[in-house]
Amino acid sequence: MIVFELICPDRHRFEGWFASSDDFESQKSRGLLSCPICSGSSIEKLLTAKIGKPEAEPAGEKAQPAPAQAALARNLNELIDYVLLNTENVGEDFPAEARRIHHKEAAQRNIRGLATGEETRELLEEGIAVMPWPVPRRKDWH
Ligand SMILES: [Zn+2]
Repeated sequence: MIVFELICPDRHRFEGWFASSDDFESQKSRGLLSCPICSGSSIEKLLTAKIGKPEAEPAGEKAQPAPAQAALARNLNELIDYVLLNTENVGEDFPAEARRIHHKEAAQRNIRGLATGEETRELLEEGIAVMPWPVPRRKDWH
C-alpha cells in the first residue's frame, strides 16, 4: 500500500491509501476520489508519498557543531599550534627547568612540559607563573 497526501482545489489536504500509483490515477479518472471536507473531485496528489508506516525523523538535522563552537575549536587548535611551535618541550624536567629559568640559571625561553598538580602548585607558590595545558598564556611565561 502507498499513502499519498492529497489536496483538493480548495487546498484541503488529506491522505489516501492506494494499492499503487496507477491505482490512484485509475480511481481519479473514474471520479472516485473526492475531498472529505468539501467533496471536491479535482484531487491532486502531492509529491510526497509514504510507503507503509510513516517515515522516521526527517533527515538533515544531524548534529552539526554550532558555528561558535567550530570557531572556538579552530582558535584553540591555532593556539595549541602556536604554543607547540614557540615553546621547547622539556618533558618531565618541566618543574626543574621552570625553576632554573625563573632563577636565570638557564636560558630565558618558553617551555612546555609535564608537571603534576602538586608540582604546579609549588611552582606557583615560588612565584613562577605556569599555566596548565592546554591554554598557556604566553605573557605568563618567564
Ligand atoms: Zn476540499
